[in-house]
Amino acid sequence: MVTSTPESIKSVKDLYAALGKEVSSAKQNKTYKYEVPIEGEQNGVVTVGGKSAVMLASNNYLGLANHPRIKEAAKSGLERWGFGMASVRFLCGTQPIHTQLEQKIAEFFGCEDAILHSSCFAANEAFFTALLSHGLGQQDYKDVIYSDQLNHASIIDGVRLCRIVAKSTDSRPYPHNQIATLKQWLEEDDGKGYRIKVIATDGVFSMEGDLAPLKELVDLASKHNALLFVDESHATGAVGETGRGTPEALGVQGKVDVISGTLGKALGGAAGGFITGKQELIEFLRQKSRPYTFSNTVPPPIVCAALEAFKMLEEDNSLVLKLNENTQYFRKEIKRLGFTILEGVHPIVPVMLGEAAIAMDMSRDLLEHGVYVKGLWYPVVPQGEARLRAQISAAHSINDLDLCLTAFEKVGKKLGVIS
Ligand SMILES: *Cc1c(COP(=O)(O)O)cnc(C)c1O
Repeated sequence: MVTSTPESIKSVKDLYAALGKEVSSAKQNKTYKYEVPIEGEQNGVVTVGGKSAVMLASNNYLGLANHPRIKEAAKSGLERWGFGMASVRFLCGTQPIHTQLEQKIAEFFGCEDAILHSSCFAANEAFFTALLSHGLGQQDYKDVIYSDQLNHASIIDGVRLCRIVAKSTDSRPYPHNQIATLKQWLEEDDGKGYRIKVIATDGVFSMEGDLAPLKELVDLASKHNALLFVDESHATGAVGETGRGTPEALGVQGKVDVISGTLGKALGGAAGGFITGKQELIEFLRQKSRPYTFSNTVPPPIVCAALEAFKMLEEDNSLVLKLNENTQYFRKEIKRLGFTILEGVHPIVPVMLGEAAIAMDMSRDLLEHGVYVKGLWYPVVPQGEARLRAQISAAHSINDLDLCLTAFEKVGKKLGVIS
């Protein structure tokens, strides 16, 4: 909480004093974000405070973050193509590997073309702002974005930025996965003469681990002439039989207009994001995306590692299967211990605890028992819905998961979460 009124900041010195106060009150309110260093590589098991801990907090779904093939691809990429390009794409920052990766992404998702960005956050901001701030030859127009209320911060900020740049854009955040509400709004809005309508959703939601109802969204989008935008950051590699994400899992592959995603989760976990879709749209974004135009190109070692990650996914789905097996095992066993989880199929397994204090204590005690898992509480999730978010990986062995389950049982009993 800011306790000082804006008037009380009269100098730069006052400003720093207010910032310091803000941070110490965050510490007191337990909203302070402590960073616990990982003393080595990211993996199924990591080192923390000199001790080993099973990692249940990373987005390293396929265990590619330090897979030998990925490291080798990055290393040989470094040797062959260098470390950095010291340029944005359009000046002198495009190598054949950048174009290859874009083609690979498009092909993998069954789209026509793709555009790389330095992150998915940047890609999402770029998409809405570029598309909806352009007249496209029209003088008078009004656009609208229907966005799931639990969408990732980058979509929310993308919509915000877009509404500043493109004042003619309406924002209609719909309650999480509430198709009936969205349907009603789309019907109401049919006569309002909107130029572009966008329905924006995460494919997989990061706090819940649930999937967007893409089949219904595809139908609604097509019925109401809306563009369907799906952010597959948590889905790529993690759902669908071959890791092609939510559209594959829900049988609507090739029917989503625009897909965005990250290279920073299942696909090697380093950095980079993309948008894939129709060629006209991607070409337009190459002209108009400001983060693409004014921010550096993705470094060659990352591009080569990402190419290898796609190659691995296309060779066979063994890592995706392993991830699924691990996920099913953990979901079944943690329930057997008496914990309440949000049901689903995704490697994000929210273990529901209710009160923030319990989530805090439990994550602290679990680390003592060699399990690294993070708690989420208000305001990140609704009040009274504090939880631990366990994230399963193909890098885990059944032994690793058993160690976690034993620790959950001990700590859960000690804190009275289970009996
Ligand atoms: C992680 C995530 C992002 C951000 O990806 P970066 O490449 O790290 O910027 C965007 N959207 C969703 C849904 C995410 O889960």
